[in-house]
Amino acid sequence: MDRMHDVPPAGNDTVTAAWQDVISAVRSQPRSQDRVRTYPALTVWQPWVWAILHGKDVENRPWAPARPPGTVVLHAGARQDTEAVPVLEDIVGGPLPRSAFTTGLLALVDITEIHHASDCRPHGYCSPWAASSGYHWTLNAPRALPTPIPARGRQRLWHLTIDQHASVQTQLDTVRPLSPPHGPGA
Ligand SMILES: [Zn+2]
Repeated sequence: MDRMHDVPPAGNDTVTAAWQDVISAVRSQPRSQDRVRTYPALTVWQPWVWAILHGKDVENRPWAPARPPGTVVLHAGARQDTEAVPVLEDIVGGPLPRSAFTTGLLALVDITEIHHASDCRPHGYCSPWAASSGYHWTLNAPRALPTPIPARGRQRLWHLTIDQHASVQTQLDTVRPLSPPHGPGA
């Protein structure tokens, strides 16, 4: 329908005032650049989120985004990588926590550098955690959220809903970086 035909005739003040309300309501709608930009999130299976919070400083992925995403919210997936548990227990020299949090937003980490394994340092890899293929996502300043936020995960990098973003934001003031990263050989 052609909206122009809905414009009331001049001279009818009541209708004109109502129409002005409609116009200002429409104009006050957020434009695209006003939309809230929420954190990107990355779903990682436990116990790997735990490992990242305890010094794993590279995330190995077969793919990479067009540019490093910056601060990312780490989401612990519903599934767990049970085969990784004995590997990690070997590395840390003791049992892992028995009940790792799953299916929710757990931490923040900064990802400002991503490179392919073939572009890694010529003599040895950038981290003891780096795989011999795929992309190395360099992880910095992991910090756990004081209160994990239940949420379903998704593939690749995904964006938080505005509600999830707000829940993370309210916790940010109390988030502190954990101890500096150290590799499995350290
Ligand atoms: Zn590397």
